[in-house]
Amino acid sequence: MNFNPQISNLPIYEAGKPIELVIREFGIEPQNVVKLASNENPLGCSPLVLEAMKESIKSANLYPDDSYYELKESLANLYNVNSKNIVIGSGSDQVIEFIMHAKLNPNTAMLSAGVTFAMYEIYAKHIGAKIYKTKSSQHSLDEIKELYNAHKKEIKVVFLCLPNNPLGECLDASDVYEFISSIDSDTLVVIDGAYMEFAKFKDSRKTINPSDIIKLSNSIYLGTFSKAYGLGGMRVGYGIANEQIITAISKLRAPFNITTPSLAAAIAAVKDQDFIVKTLQNNFKEMSIYEQFAKDNDIEFIPSYTNFITFIFDNSKDSTQICDKLLRQGIILRNLRSYGLNAIRITIGTNEQNIKVLEALKKEI
Ligand SMILES: *Cc1c(COP(=O)(O)O)cnc(C)c1O
Repeated sequence: MNFNPQISNLPIYEAGKPIELVIREFGIEPQNVVKLASNENPLGCSPLVLEAMKESIKSANLYPDDSYYELKESLANLYNVNSKNIVIGSGSDQVIEFIMHAKLNPNTAMLSAGVTFAMYEIYAKHIGAKIYKTKSSQHSLDEIKELYNAHKKEIKVVFLCLPNNPLGECLDASDVYEFISSIDSDTLVVIDGAYMEFAKFKDSRKTINPSDIIKLSNSIYLGTFSKAYGLGGMRVGYGIANEQIITAISKLRAPFNITTPSLAAAIAAVKDQDFIVKTLQNNFKEMSIYEQFAKDNDIEFIPSYTNFITFIFDNSKDSTQICDKLLRQGIILRNLRSYGLNAIRITIGTNEQNIKVLEALKKEI
C-alpha cells in the first residue's frame, strides 16, 4: 500500500525510556529504578489533585464538560486573561498540532532554533511543510531574524521554546517582545512555555506573560500541566492568544479531547500553587548539586532555566555509552545523540535520586 510521501520520511519521536523496560530487560526492582529522562516532576503531583481525580472517576460514564468552563476560568484567573483567549489540548503537544494544521501547508515553512523540541519538526513534516533551523543549536534571535528575512514569504510559523528543551537556555522577555513586533502579522510566533514556571522563578527577566501575548495579533503562548504541575500522565496543555487565533485553532479540536479525570486534575492543580513553589525550590536547590559536579569534573553544562540540566561531553567521552551503562544500573537519562549532540539531559530529581545518579556518573566518566 502507498502512503502520503511525507509519511515515509517521517522521523519518530524518541520518547524517554519507560521504567517497565529497565525492569524487563535488566531485571531491576521497580523501587530501584531512577527515571530522570522525561522532565517529569520527581515530587509527584499535589495531593489535592489525587483527591479530585478519585472523585471524578465516579462519573466515568459521562462525557466531560466539553466547554472546559471551570478549567478555562481557573487559567484565565491565574494568567489574568479571558476564557475566550484559551484553548485546551491533550498536552500542549496537541495544541502544537492544531497550530501546524491551521497555519502550514506544503508551500509554507516553519522556523526554529537548531536544537529544540523535536515535535515541532515532526508535526511540520506531517503536513509536508518546509523546515528552517538556525545553525546555532541554542536560540539566537539574530540568526532567527536573518533566516526569517531570507524566507519571509514562506515562513508562517516561528517557534521559540522559552526556556528551551533539551538545552535549557532562555531568552530575555524584552528581546522576545521586540522580536515578535518585527515579524509579519501573518506569521504566528509560538512561545512554548512548557518550562516557564521554572524560568520565571529563577529570573524574572525571562517571564513571558500570556496577558501581554493576547494583545498581539501574531503570537500564541503554550503551557502544560506535564512539567511543574507533575501531571504528564494526564495529558493537559493549553494555548493562550487573542480571540481570533483561538477561534481559528479551536475549530481543529475534536470534542472531549481530554478525559474527565484529566480535567479534574488540572482544575485542582491550579488551586495548589504551594505545591508549585515547593517544586521550584527543590528543583533549583538540587540543580546546584549537578552544577557543582560538572565544575568539579570539567564537564560543560548550559545554565538551565528548566527542571533538567544538560551535560555536554568532550570527545574523550561518549554520551551513548554513558547512558547505556547507567541504564543497566536502572538509571534512565536522556541521551541527546539523536539531536546530533554528545550530551546527556538529566531531569532534576529528588535529593536521593540525584545522589544516585551522580555516584553512578562519577564511575562512568
Ligand atoms: C513537555 C513539553 C511539551 C508538551 O508536553 P505535553 O505533555 O504534551 O503537554 C511541549 N513543549 C516542550 C518544549 C516540552 O518539553
